[in-house]
Amino acid sequence: MIAHVSLEIALRKEFDYFIPPELEGKVDVGSRVQVPFGARKVLGVVTAVAEESAHAKLKPIIKVIGAQTLVTPKVLQLARWIAEYYCCAPEIALKAVLPEAVRKEEDGWRERLFVRALPVSGEFPKLPKRQLEVWHIIEERREILLNDLLELAETTASTVRRLEDRGLVSVVNEVSERDPYAHEHILPSPPLVLNERQAAALEAIKRAMAANEDGGTKMEDGKREPSSILHPPSSTFLLHGVTGSGKTEIYLQAIAHALEQGKGAIVLVPEIALTPQTVERFKARFSSGKLQTLVAVLHSHLSAGERHDEWHKIRQSRARIVIGARSAIFAPVEPLGLVVVDEEHEHTYKQEEAPRYHARDVAIVRGQMEGAVVVLGSATPSLESYHNCKKGKYALLELPERVDDQKMPYVRIVDMRQAARGGKGPPIFSPQLKEAITQRLERGEQTILFLNRRGYSTALECTQCGYVANCPNCSLTLTYHRPEQKLRCHLCGYVEAVPAVCSNEKCKNPQIRYSGLGTQKVEDVLGKLFPKARVRRMDADVMKRKEDYRKVLGDFRTGKIDILIGTQMIAKGLHFPNVTLVGIIFADMALHQPDFRAGERTFQLLTQVAGRAGRGDVEGEVFVQAFTPFHPAIQFARRHDFVGFYEQEIEFREQLKYPPAARVALLTLKGRNEEKVKFSAEHVRRELDKLVEGNKKVGRRVSGHESPELALDIKSPILSSTGSPALFRDLIIAGPAPAPLLRAETFYRYQLMLRTRAMSRLSQSLARITTGLMLPEGVTLTVDIDPVSLS
Ligand code: ADP
Ligand code: ZN
Repeated sequence: MIAHVSLEIALRKEFDYFIPPELEGKVDVGSRVQVPFGARKVLGVVTAVAEESAHAKLKPIIKVIGAQTLVTPKVLQLARWIAEYYCCAPEIALKAVLPEAVRKEEDGWRERLFVRALPVSGEFPKLPKRQLEVWHIIEERREILLNDLLELAETTASTVRRLEDRGLVSVVNEVSERDPYAHEHILPSPPLVLNERQAAALEAIKRAMAANEDGGTKMEDGKREPSSILHPPSSTFLLHGVTGSGKTEIYLQAIAHALEQGKGAIVLVPEIALTPQTVERFKARFSSGKLQTLVAVLHSHLSAGERHDEWHKIRQSRARIVIGARSAIFAPVEPLGLVVVDEEHEHTYKQEEAPRYHARDVAIVRGQMEGAVVVLGSATPSLESYHNCKKGKYALLELPERVDDQKMPYVRIVDMRQAARGGKGPPIFSPQLKEAITQRLERGEQTILFLNRRGYSTALECTQCGYVANCPNCSLTLTYHRPEQKLRCHLCGYVEAVPAVCSNEKCKNPQIRYSGLGTQKVEDVLGKLFPKARVRRMDADVMKRKEDYRKVLGDFRTGKIDILIGTQMIAKGLHFPNVTLVGIIFADMALHQPDFRAGERTFQLLTQVAGRAGRGDVEGEVFVQAFTPFHPAIQFARRHDFVGFYEQEIEFREQLKYPPAARVALLTLKGRNEEKVKFSAEHVRRELDKLVEGNKKVGRRVSGHESPELALDIKSPILSSTGSPALFRDLIIAGPAPAPLLRAETFYRYQLMLRTRAMSRLSQSLARITTGLMLPEGVTLTVDIDPVSLS
């Protein structure tokens, strides 16, 4: 017997190996294996097993890793789809489906030494500086491989042993079963009696699950038709429900139904919303009773050991439910009955490095491949998903009201142009917002203030020559951070001290002005306005560790904080009954960015943040401070009118052929030499033009008419019978143009944007074009299919 193996080294190719007798029966599709490659030994995944090979003189597989196959055949199929659709090498896609900690198992994971932080009892001992540094590194990670630690801390094993002697760490040779939430006390929570709307939604989901049970849409093994997969008969639902409408309760009961059918479930939550609160709700429901099961948690803040354990709990079917961020969509749940994608509009579902997949879209494809029902939930669905409902591809479920008829918070727009009049520039707090905060403090209610920008001031300018402090590596201004008196680049992390005089050699003016505002300044000014209020700030600068995050949320919940200031970190998923006021400091901040989704993003953010108010008995109030108060994104958000927003936004997208009217592929060329980058981009453009050449001759433009289904496009071959490239009749190519952020981390970037409805087919052409491309040294090309950010 022989095995086809996809090697971990990027070769875009599979190789055949022979299965030696001693490994017979141990090698299967999805097995991870070590094989010889030239003089090296490399790792790979078996993608198929066959009786014979076209090649002679095959080398044998050296060994098999792990007792079970690590990549299940279904996940393998999914990885293949990702490689094809997102235009990346199969081995890159395969790498993404397994957590690093699981992939590394072959190196004798369990035999290696781990250093684990132990709880400190009593007073923390006084340590020499070096030991203290090493301790901090261990404590931060809770557990780390000894070898990794030695490298990271540039220390020796004897230093670590000294920490062990003091009882601060333990050095062990195996991974323990760590439950990241073990110390939390979980009370069982029985299912709630659903209201009418909820019950109807659950009923529809259950019906679809029953239909899938009958064999409905299951794919035949080995058959791959990516684009037809994207157009299901409809076991995909969009649950459009305002915040607090009881969506999570529906997820819980739908999961229970999957368990009853003997199937498992995956719940995707944006990383930022994956709080202990959220996880607890799921664990509590399934912690006892006849549907009792472990709930595995997968996200980026787990230690390597934790991730390893959580993953194996799933693989061994001890955990039937997985809740996690983006990559949890690859969890080996089998059989899979349900996938929930909560806050489906969130951009963090898109991975920003190869493979550049969108977890929501992968979820839908996986659901189709495995006959699982997919439920997308959001208070502010993406235009893409809502559009798919309108076209009948997804079924729409609506929960327009909050549970228990709680009212939506009352939203007031404050025109900051008026507040700015007469004074010296706009104030941070309008008189209206100031008054509202005062009231809350008097009544002992809580306030959330939102500004999506950290730091103190966003620009440092010279009042004389107009010099602005820019990052030397990026085309961005540096942000002033007051506590440490530093200027920082929020993109590349560059830091410099605040200059005493203007940095322009010819000027050296000592009058430097700070403009723009960040959360630090809001905190500062708030402290002056309300000296007695207990104020806390929550942004990436203060929340370095997950313990910090939990502590602040805990303090806020128990009323130890009056006012919480934060960035998007506080916008999502939090539920605090005593918050009756939300202030949005600068609502139009994101509105004027060069991205066709700027309006959509603003609408979503305003709606989400507003939803934090009035989740208890007292009606909530929201103040939205804006300089363009009549912008549709702001006005529709004020009225909580998603459908209104959709109707006007879709018109603009259709006119300009932006998603969802078409799909986008973004090609970015980057390099340190701007001329070379630009030249290469022009070269790529000429190659791309070949895809549309002759369009005029064809002259059969189906203008204004939507091609019935993407599925039709994929079936037409890439090459027509005469061998000339198939043409894309609706393809629009824009660029090359400098990226909105021309320079990032010392690299210049030029972009080309392609728009078509036939994206599956375009991906294939792009794969062909980009692999054949000869780019000058120092210039690289990335392809991003369905990008969520154009910067
Ligand atoms: P969403 O996920 O839409 O924001 P949740 O599911 O978190 O909404 O529900 C909001 C609150 O209402 C939660 O505290 C939840 O326990 C409660 N809740 C949900 N459904 C019901 C119900 N049918 N009866 C009573 N309370 C409910
Ligand atoms: Zn920078």
